[in-house]
Amino acid sequence: MSKTPNGKNVLIIEDEVKLARFVELELRYEGYGVDVAHDGRGGLRLFREKAFDIVLLDLMLPGIDGMEIVKILRGGSDSSVRTDVPIIMLTAKGEITDKVTGLDSGADDYITKPFVIEELLARMRAALKKKHINDTEENGILTLNNLKIDTLRRYVEVSGETVELTKTEYELLVYLVQNKNNVITRDQILNEVWGYNYLGETNVVDVYIRYLRQKLDDRFNTKFIHTLRGVGYIAKD
Ligand code: CA
Repeated sequence: MSKTPNGKNVLIIEDEVKLARFVELELRYEGYGVDVAHDGRGGLRLFREKAFDIVLLDLMLPGIDGMEIVKILRGGSDSSVRTDVPIIMLTAKGEITDKVTGLDSGADDYITKPFVIEELLARMRAALKKKHINDTEENGILTLNNLKIDTLRRYVEVSGETVELTKTEYELLVYLVQNKNNVITRDQILNEVWGYNYLGETNVVDVYIRYLRQKLDDRFNTKFIHTLRGVGYIAKD
């Protein structure tokens, strides 16, 4: 049984069919939407047709290789595929050169084959999180209806009225609003807000959601945070 869809779509471009299939199944299990291409051209075609949140890109591919694809996605002449979505390179040992690891490659991260799936998942989460933060940093403001978060000053207000939040409440709210209109599971919240290695009670999420609701929903008589029973939470615009 797979986990709840997490709303993130992954494009895998990898010519080793077995490896691509293995990663696809693991990611589907984790709730990702997955498309697979086994060569560069197919990958670019999919990229034109669909919106992806992250790309897993093999370096050595038939036809157009991984480095070429990075160049095309990062501001080549073809604006229909130009993108700033995170790219994680999949490389075999020995293929790792300064060109791959260097910041100028345009990829966000790389992982060496063979890898354990947990390592890949962790890198993907990190890359997606970084993207979120970068998107927010353009002006530092997140909004949800009449709620406004100034992430540069760590300041929250609703219709101009200041809301005082603790550090954890604030981080939980930011995470929910960054993912607004997407269902967030308790596991995702635990991983993102409390950290991957959190070992305490899982109902800590529900407790903090309750605190937030007292300070937001109750006080302003609005429903900012919705519960999906047995699934998780969603901040709705
Ligand atoms: Ca390959």
